[in-house]
Amino acid sequence: MTYRGRFAPSPTGDLHAGSLVAALGSWLRARQSDGRWLLRVDDLDAPRVVPGSAPSILSALHDYGLQADEPVLYQSQRETAYLQAFEHLQQHGEVFACWCSRSDLSAVDGLHRDGHCITPPQDDRPPAWRIRVPDRAFAFEDLVQGTQQQNLRESVGDFVLRRADGCWSYHLACVVDDAHQGVTEVVRGCDLLDSTPRQIFLQQQLDLPTPSYLHLPLALREDAGKLSKSTRDLPLDRTDPLPTLRHALTFLGQPEPSGGDLRTLLQNALAAFDPRRIPHRHSAPWPGTS
Ligand code: GLU
Repeated sequence: MTYRGRFAPSPTGDLHAGSLVAALGSWLRARQSDGRWLLRVDDLDAPRVVPGSAPSILSALHDYGLQADEPVLYQSQRETAYLQAFEHLQQHGEVFACWCSRSDLSAVDGLHRDGHCITPPQDDRPPAWRIRVPDRAFAFEDLVQGTQQQNLRESVGDFVLRRADGCWSYHLACVVDDAHQGVTEVVRGCDLLDSTPRQIFLQQQLDLPTPSYLHLPLALREDAGKLSKSTRDLPLDRTDPLPTLRHALTFLGQPEPSGGDLRTLLQNALAAFDPRRIPHRHSAPWPGTS
């Protein structure tokens, strides 16, 4: 089977150091596996989308030498596919309407369990839609972080598929789109490690294949010796990508790449890329921020 990987940025700002690490990591895996590298723009959550951000991210990736092999998939154009998946879950799964506010949920430790809403139905406003999760562990083998396991009922509870404002949840959209793009391996940051069991559960409910998973350490800024802020506010140098690419490769545990131009540097990085060298930790400081 041909390897198919993807990078799925949310257009909520410019490409930053942390998201470059995910883009580069997924690109290296796809290229080294003689596979295809795909792009998906996660622009579902209209209020969070920053106008101009998607084209800016795509052109920054281009400047960094990372080009997709197929047309970009935009989640904002996938309404019909999400609706079909939702209807399938309604027919086969345990989807229920929910009117609870955050404060209603505080009465049940913030988590819904057992497939019902604890607030009486209300005619004057639309509900969110949740899916009941089973009381069992979902385990998977992460290619860098090792065996992961989560009991969905204990850890996340019955989760939202569609918000009250009609917006589809990231989990539903991600699972439908990964299958649509034929993704065989998901490479992304460790901030999504604990989303993976929910996504595997949805794949099983929707009879979709489960790809393999590789979660990269998250690049964080170090402030006063503490890893706290994301690198979101560290803009990337668009005129000279080489120093940032070198930082990103070192961050991924790869040898210092040689090459004085973009093409040579990426080729050398690819030839030397060894996923076993990627640090087995959930986050690490971005070089130069401490
Ligand atoms: N759009 C998500 C983000 O930027 C990533 C989704 C994914 O890789 O599954 O955090």
